[in-house]
Amino acid sequence: MATERTLAIVKPDAVARNLVGEILRRAESAGLRIAAARFLHLTKVEAEGFYAVHRERPFFSDLTDYMCSGPVMVVAFEGDGAIATWRGLMGATDPAKAEPGTIRKDLGVNVEQNSTHGSDAPETAQTEIGYFFTALDQVARN
Ligand code: UDP
Ligand code: MG
Repeated sequence: MATERTLAIVKPDAVARNLVGEILRRAESAGLRIAAARFLHLTKVEAEGFYAVHRERPFFSDLTDYMCSGPVMVVAFEGDGAIATWRGLMGATDPAKAEPGTIRKDLGVNVEQNSTHGSDAPETAQTEIGYFFTALDQVARN
């Protein structure tokens, strides 16, 4: 498998419950390496920019309110097949439908407050990593 990078966010619900360490532990245990990391509190405009692809969705307003309701931990992970590895660790969008042992099943609150974000494809990973990190912020780990 090719070495990839993916953009992960520990969302406000998980940061508020002190689950950053637990979530990063799961990622590191699966072999993902931290290439860049930031802890920050998004503004509404920044959250809207990040989720711009969902602008027309009915949940967009609530989602972007929630994403700026508290701080988030943003991490670029690197590893073989990192995009699929991280999506697999997260599980389905709705915690009620996610497989046991996944982050969203084990830790998520509901379909909105589902504890983590993960890029869904190489193109979105590149765009999303660039939203938060410059080239100088990113450390090669392979
Ligand atoms: N979301 C929501 N209601 C929905 C679907 C999604 O509030 O019915 C939120 C949820 O926080 C999700 C995010 O919007 O993680 C982005 O949705 P997407 O379909 O991209 O899911 P993901 O890629 O995060 O699994
Ligand atoms: Mg998505």
